[in-house]
Parts: sequence; structure tokens; C-alpha cells
Amino acid sequence: MKSNNDVIIIGGGIIGLACAHYLIQKNAGVRIIEQDVIGSGASHGNCGLLHFSGIIPLCSPGVVRHELYRAMRGRSPLYIKPTLDMTLIQWLMKFAIHCNLTHMTAASKAKNELLRYSLDLFDTLFSEHSLDCDFEKKGLLLLFKDKKYLEKYTATDAFLKKYDFGASRLDLADARKLEPSISKDIAGAWYNQHDWHLRPEMLVDSWKKHLIKNGVIIEEKCKMLDFEIKQGKIRCVNTVKGQYRADAFILTTGAWAPRVNKQLKLNIPVQPGKGYSITMERPDQSPGIPCLLYERNMVATPWKTGYRLGGTMEFSGFDDRLNEKRLSKLVMGAREYLNTTTGSPILEQWSGLRPMTHDDLPIIDRSPFQDNLFVATGHGMLGLTMATGTGKAVCDMIYEGKAQIELAPFSMDRF
Ligand SMILES: Cc1cc2nc3c(=O)[nH]c(=O)nc-3n(C[C@H](O)[C@H](O)[C@H](O)COP(=O)(O)OP(=O)(O)OC[C@H]3O[C@@H](n4cnc5c(N)ncnc54)[C@H](O)[C@@H]3O)c2cc1C
Repeated sequence: MKSNNDVIIIGGGIIGLACAHYLIQKNAGVRIIEQDVIGSGASHGNCGLLHFSGIIPLCSPGVVRHELYRAMRGRSPLYIKPTLDMTLIQWLMKFAIHCNLTHMTAASKAKNELLRYSLDLFDTLFSEHSLDCDFEKKGLLLLFKDKKYLEKYTATDAFLKKYDFGASRLDLADARKLEPSISKDIAGAWYNQHDWHLRPEMLVDSWKKHLIKNGVIIEEKCKMLDFEIKQGKIRCVNTVKGQYRADAFILTTGAWAPRVNKQLKLNIPVQPGKGYSITMERPDQSPGIPCLLYERNMVATPWKTGYRLGGTMEFSGFDDRLNEKRLSKLVMGAREYLNTTTGSPILEQWSGLRPMTHDDLPIIDRSPFQDNLFVATGHGMLGLTMATGTGKAVCDMIYEGKAQIELAPFSMDRF
């Protein structure tokens, strides 16, 4: 048995790091257990948007019809591998059921609270600590090829305005004034000033160093195997490196979280949603503002130190192979909306597994069966953006008995 800790965090992605950050502010003794290296999961090569205006859930009215239409035209960024996996089939059916106005309204309200909370906490984090990560507050440009979608976004914007996350509409000339690298072929743009961006793998790296300096113990190549449970409490976690004991445990294993369902009798209905990115040297004429290429559902993110194209959503289980066709779609998509050559050399081609729930809301909760186990996963497309709010909420659940924000929409009871 390895030494006792106050809290053990299982999973060293951005959510695990954020939990550790707020725990050490309570003087907790924290150990992070990671099966590979810190930040080797979805938190590594993502698009780096702090997309606070992303309050509307993926499951919204009309999404299923729209994606089927795009898939028939070979233009959908979504791919579902034909499968007999009943868990995935049920998950997809539940996602489709959630594509309604009632859910969209309730989920947006809940996401808004968590995103706004995260925004304030990120502001504090970056003002108190110098975490080297190419962080910038430059907003997000949504570029539209199709006039119909550009117009339709007016209704989306009206919805966002109710939450003070509204954008401004730009015609082509004004959009090109703001961002000269935009192609002449686009129909127009919406500019949302509320979003920020950073380089995610740099944040992971500098946050990890900061946490180690402040006493967090990090165990890499230390896969969690299972738990020892006694009288409704987790006593210790068994890993490939041995047993670790703690007073409280936090499960932040992202897309892998459902693997504990059987032993812990939990219902964590998370599916891996695979995405891809290509990272390059920043080209001479890259955009200066991150651009969301609307019809392609992909993002081009510029940093001082590089340039990344990322996107696509593939449901194909835990397959982490790189698919050349989907990677090339990212490059083709960028060429449709931007004048810039893609950068060279290519520094990295990457795929990552987003932890997706069928209602597109995260899970932030105490286990109903093990009193000292907390779960934080299912952050889908916005795990980086929601990291600080999630970390603080989990820490407050443990140390204050209650979070400062309403966590009922994120509870496991809802499944
Ligand atoms: C292409 C792409 C673009 C994206 N862009 C954005 C964006 O712009 N903005 C945004 O907010 N979000 C974005 N996301 C989503 C974001 O990356 C995820 O929501 C987030 O990284 C999830 O963080 P996590 O800590 O829950 O999971 P992860 O980062 O996957 O971390 C989980 C960790 O748990 C470890 N683990 C698993 N099982 C075990 C075990 N048994 N024992 C020990 N350790 C274990 C894994 O190795 C992993 O390191 C994007 C995702 C993708 C794929």
C-alpha cells in the first residue's frame, strides 16, 4: 500500500488538472494517477478554443435531419461506423430524442451557468499565474459559405443574446477588413467577441509544472485497474504500480470513464467522439483570429507558436488510428474559407476521443453508491472551456459540501 493522500484524481487530462488546481488551494494532498502521460488524451491536440458562447447543446431541433442531409451529400463532418454495439445504438437514439426545443432551452441554461463560471475562473487563473500557453482574448469568427446558413444564424444569435453571448454580423468586406485571410468566396461572417483561445498542450504542460511545484504528486504510466470498496466507501485504488489509498477519489478519465460502471454500479453513458487535428508551423498569412468554418464544423486556430486545423466527429469506439481521408478533409475545408496556404512543415497529425454524453451536458456529481467518489466527465466538445468551473465545483463539493453553481443538471440521476 502506497502512502495515504487526501485526494486521488484518476485521469490526467485538463479536467483532472483543474480539479488538482483548486484542491491545492485548500491545502489538500493530491495525487494524480494517469495511465499514459499527463495530457495524452483529448486534452492534447484539440482546437484550443475557450468557447464560452457555446452554450447551445449539440442536440438541438433539426440536427438529425440536417446531419442526414449533409451525410447524403458527402459533406457531413459526422461519421458513424456501422455497428451492432447496442450501447452505441441506444446512445444515438437517446441523442436523437434530445434534439428538441425543451431540452435545448434547459441545457443552454445549465451550460451557460457553468461556462460563465469557467470564464471568470479562467480570468482569475491567468491573472494570478503565468501559465505559458499562447493565451489570447481575440474572439471567434464564424465563417459561412452558404447565405442560407448565414441568415439562419440570426435566430441562433438572438438566442445567444438572451444570455449576453451574442455576436455581430459582418458582410464580406467588413469580415475581410477584420481578417484579411478570409477567402472572397464566403457569404459573410458572425464575430463573437466573448470567446478566447490558447494552445492546449502548452496549457497542460505549464499547468502540470505549476501543480508539481505546489506539491501535487503525479504518477504517469500508472493505469487504474479497479477499486477496493468497504462500507460504501472507496478504500483504495489498484493500479499497475500498486495500491493507493485516499480519503476521496475523483474520476476524470474522460472517454474511458464508463469502464468503471460495472464494478461501481454507476451509469456513466459516455461514448468516445473521435476528432482530428493537424498542427503546422504558422503560415505567413494565417488568420489572426480563430475561425469556425461553419458548414464544415471545423476550426482554424492561430497561435504565436503555430497553427491548427481541427474538427470532425466520428463514432467508431476506441479506435485511435489516424484516417487520412478525414485529415485531408480538414485541409480541404480550410482552403474553401481561407486564402492562406496551410502551414508547413506539418508538426503533428492527431486524433483524440471526446467524452460525449447523449444530452451534451457533462457529468459532475458525487457517486450515489460510494460516498467518497466524485465523477467529472462527459464534457464533449467543450472540456477545455469548462475545465475551471468543473474543477472548482468538484473541489467545493469535497471541501464545502456544495458547489457555488447549480449542479443538478449535471447529476448522474438524470440517466
Ligand atoms: C478535435 C478536437 C477538438 C476540440 N476542440 C476543443 C476546443 O476548442 N475547446 C474545448 O473546450 N474543447 C475542445 N475539445 C474537447 C476537449 O478536448 C475535451 O472535452 C477535453 O479534453 C476532455 O478532457 P478530459 O480531461 O475529460 O479527458 P482527457 O483529456 O481525455 O483525459 C482523460 C485522461 O484519463 C486517462 N485515463 C483513462 N483511463 C485511465 C485509467 N484506467 N487509469 C489512469 N488514467 C486513465 C487518459 O489517459 C487521459 O489522459 C476538442 C476535442 C477534439 C477531439
